[in-house]
Amino acid sequence: MSRSVHRLREFGETVFATMSARAVEFDAVNLGQGFPDSDGPPRMLEIACEEIRAGNNQYGPGRGLPVLREAVAAQRARDHGVHYDPDTEVLITVGATEAISAAVLGLVEPGTEVIVLEPYYDAYAAAIALAGARRVAVPLAADGATWTVDVAAVRAAITADTAMLIINSPHNPTGAVFSRATLSELAKVCVEHDLLVLSDEVYENLLFDALPHTAVASLPGMRERTVTVSSAAKSYNVTGWKTGWALAPAPLLDAVVTAKQFMSYVGATPFQPAVAHALTHEGPWLSAMVAELATGRDILVDGLRSAGLSVHDTHGTYFVIADIGEGRDGLDFCLELPARIGVAAIPVQVFCDDPGPWRSKVRFAFGKKHETLHRGVERLQLLDECP
Ligand code: PMP
Ligand code: GLN
Repeated sequence: MSRSVHRLREFGETVFATMSARAVEFDAVNLGQGFPDSDGPPRMLEIACEEIRAGNNQYGPGRGLPVLREAVAAQRARDHGVHYDPDTEVLITVGATEAISAAVLGLVEPGTEVIVLEPYYDAYAAAIALAGARRVAVPLAADGATWTVDVAAVRAAITADTAMLIINSPHNPTGAVFSRATLSELAKVCVEHDLLVLSDEVYENLLFDALPHTAVASLPGMRERTVTVSSAAKSYNVTGWKTGWALAPAPLLDAVVTAKQFMSYVGATPFQPAVAHALTHEGPWLSAMVAELATGRDILVDGLRSAGLSVHDTHGTYFVIADIGEGRDGLDFCLELPARIGVAAIPVQVFCDDPGPWRSKVRFAFGKKHETLHRGVERLQLLDECP
């Protein structure tokens, strides 16, 4: 029996750890947890090794190495037209995960409310609980074969206690990309109610079908109320480097820094110049990676369909949602899948306060080598034979 404090009791082991452990146990193709099985840009990897050999192995400055803060600010300005001062408005964190927790802990008072869009990434729920705040989940609305934000429902969920709204586009786990028009409507509501916004943009580069990324802070009235979070993990295939960042106007960022400094003090030093290089010079590598990812998506979607599942659209991230059939339970399905056919996947219902509508939805990850996806797809064809 865990002795954890009351406010953390609803959280057991994360679904990603559970499903990845089952994948290892049954030697399954892991299409569950979102991490790639190939490396990032070679020069970026070399720089990290060079930094270690050159002795860049001690604590860096509290807000991160200037070279990375400058590269992060330059990338935001170049790619999204939003300008930040690298000295006062950029913080390097231990992955986007720490940036999320530090933003909530530093900016949200206990007893207030934080609105999340359901299904929501699990770290938001934990950060809100750690802060002693209340989570208010607003379900996404179906939009053809994908999902969008129900702006009217968000408006209806706002109370005098609402402190923050957490937005994530491209969206994990659905692969939905919210349009600029929808995000602009949402922005108007945030301005009207003077809400803080946490915009999780870790998938800012993983978009398909020529869709643009909308940086929430670029919308009218949003820069001054938004903490934007991103990381190197998904753009440069280095989920294990745990190097992310937060950008916000100084009064907001100072609050994030105050929390972050006691969570980890600083992140790993030698990765920071390497990530700075990637942000500045690895655009061509990134474009090629995203093109391969789009092909990987098609391989997996075709494979899921030929295995008899109905598949939703995905326009970003490296996730796609399949429906295993009305009345069937995605959690049971995912718990059994590694032993049954040697594939791991993630049930969507665990990201929901109201699992009902999401019970038969299962998330598969396609950010893998094409050979891995083909192997997974081959095994998925056994679904019929191994009931
Ligand atoms: N937000 C979302 C939506 C994610 O999917 C993830 C996982 N990449 C994170 C945050 C955490 O990112 P990091 O690994 O950089 O902590
Ligand atoms: N973001 C990854 C996913 O959604 C998992 C990261 C983690 O395990 N915390 O699959």
